[in-house]
Amino acid sequence: GADRVFFVGGNWKCNGSKSEIKTLVESFNKDAPTTSDVEVVVGAPLPYLEYTRGLLRSDWGVSAQNCWIGKGGAYTGEVTADMLADVGTDWVILGHSERRNLPELKESDATIATKTVYAISKGVSVMYCIGELLEERESGQTIAVCERQLKALGDVIGSDWSKIVIAYEPVWAIGTGKVATPEQAEEVHEAIRKWLAANVSQQVADSTRILYGGSVSPANCDELAKKPNIDGFLVGGASLKPDFVKIVESYK
Ligand code: PEP
Repeated sequence: GADRVFFVGGNWKCNGSKSEIKTLVESFNKDAPTTSDVEVVVGAPLPYLEYTRGLLRSDWGVSAQNCWIGKGGAYTGEVTADMLADVGTDWVILGHSERRNLPELKESDATIATKTVYAISKGVSVMYCIGELLEERESGQTIAVCERQLKALGDVIGSDWSKIVIAYEPVWAIGTGKVATPEQAEEVHEAIRKWLAANVSQQVADSTRILYGGSVSPANCDELAKKPNIDGFLVGGASLKPDFVKIVESYK
């Protein structure tokens, strides 16, 4: 909608190998259109970020799927946003529902917000993921949950949201094949934009891309993309296949 450039992110999650990435990226390089009407970013596992950057067409970005909360030091096993930037990673996915909800991870709203502010301070843009669990939707809390997750960021980020895209990903729709209807998604996207207008600024509300994520596929993307407040997608499973390009083309 509006003047916002359509945005499609792929989230490969914890999948792939060098040989699989090479095959996939070569098909993206060959088959996808070259246009300034859509911004595309693929999210690779950490060991493959630089490898992916080296193979991938230069008009597409590369994203990590997580990073440490602040600067480096004695944090065994962690990776900082500084390091991501150093190896040419333009983006990081933060607050993905798997990182929020897996019992081994359980990242809090505050942790995710702090990570986000640190990442953008290092020049790494953020896909900030929010969304409700099934039981939260069923008990009528969808908008309240999304607003709570937005407020966590609003409390620490200040007025510049230019390096943020918001990904609304209802947890019940992720990896389940159960996509939100265009109406269900649009209702929440509109509420997110209203929240931005009321709590940040009209300018940020107008310019921030709000992506939908959750079982997006070549078969359902066009209907979703028609909605005025759906500015693109964050795509999991379908981003591991050559016809991810069809989702990229839904900007049209
Ligand atoms: C995701 O991981 O962000 C996602 C939306 O996954 P899927 O498209 O597989 O539902």
